[in-house]
Amino acid sequence: MSSALDALPVRDDLKGKAPYGAPQLPDAVQLNVNENPHAPSAALVADLARAVGEAAATLNRYPDREAVALRTDLAAYLSKQTGVPLAIEQLWAANGSNEVLQQVCQAFGGPGRTALGFEPSYPMHPLLARGTSTGWVGVPRGQDFSLDLDTAVAAVREHRPAITFLTTPNNPTGTITGLDVVEAVHEAGDGIVLVDEAYAEFAASPSAVTLLDNCPRLIVSRTMSKAFALAGARVGYLAASPAVVDALRLVRLPYHLSALTQAAARTALAHADELLGTVEQVKQQRDRMVREIGALGLQVVPTESNFLLFGQFEQPARVWQALLDRGVLVRDLSSGPGLAGWLRVNAGTEPETTAFLDALKEITS
Ligand SMILES: *Cc1c(COP(=O)(O)O)cnc(C)c1O
Repeated sequence: MSSALDALPVRDDLKGKAPYGAPQLPDAVQLNVNENPHAPSAALVADLARAVGEAAATLNRYPDREAVALRTDLAAYLSKQTGVPLAIEQLWAANGSNEVLQQVCQAFGGPGRTALGFEPSYPMHPLLARGTSTGWVGVPRGQDFSLDLDTAVAAVREHRPAITFLTTPNNPTGTITGLDVVEAVHEAGDGIVLVDEAYAEFAASPSAVTLLDNCPRLIVSRTMSKAFALAGARVGYLAASPAVVDALRLVRLPYHLSALTQAAARTALAHADELLGTVEQVKQQRDRMVREIGALGLQVVPTESNFLLFGQFEQPARVWQALLDRGVLVRDLSSGPGLAGWLRVNAGTEPETTAFLDALKEITS
């Protein structure tokens, strides 16, 4: 970062660090941040405008600090999606699941404590640990990016983390971690086990929500940013025991979720069937990408999400640039742990996916 920043009394552990973020290039075919490519329908936009308009009439007042109506709707949605009965006391929401995860780090991490994750995984987990002065241990995954039970349990026994992150489907690999691993990790230590299920609606595998009854230190985080096609509204949530939710109340900012956000999220949840109706289309385009990238002689990591890793390239940065030169933006995470040679791309609409595949064919032929 700039020397002007270094001249400030910024925390020692932040000096020289770069902020997190992928390029935002609205003119490109944007397949780099795992969004749902389908914009809300005109009918949903009208409903959102009405709901946000009604909330606007109350903006002289602080919003419901406990977001009771929203958490009730989230409990109903998640119960229906997972088949597990959930009470509102088990649900918590914030501005994107990133804020949810930050609150978890604030409440259960902190100086002298450690968080652990299995890499490559979501780079925000170590960044949220750092921002809350929580130590970080990154344990490597297997060659095929899987996470086996013995490796996971041994790592937890060795490091005794206050928080263990398990991401399934894992970003950026798309791979799944079985519920047997989640249970064993919970059993192996006395810390929080956070299962990040940001992409659960795309997966065929069962949710860790089914384990909540028997695992009091388990947290399952979800987001409306991916399958739900609501990234711009910034809504994430988690399910856990009521005691975990009480702990998060100790660190959340008062009135952290605006009345406008709560209104928009509730409206989207009322249209869940329509929004999630795009999931099948997205999965079809993903399966098409798996087939057609494979037919080019490239490798694809098996995925249960809306994105995939493809490669391996000797110079992934050059492939990334060549795709961008053809108007297609993908993600180059190849400098991250265990990701040398790989690029990540998410499924787009049919024309967007075609644009990507055509560009890739041109580059590799
Ligand atoms: C995208 C993503 C999130 C979600 O972030 P939001 O803050 O809810 O938009 C969380 N975890 C993982 C693994 C992700 O890929």
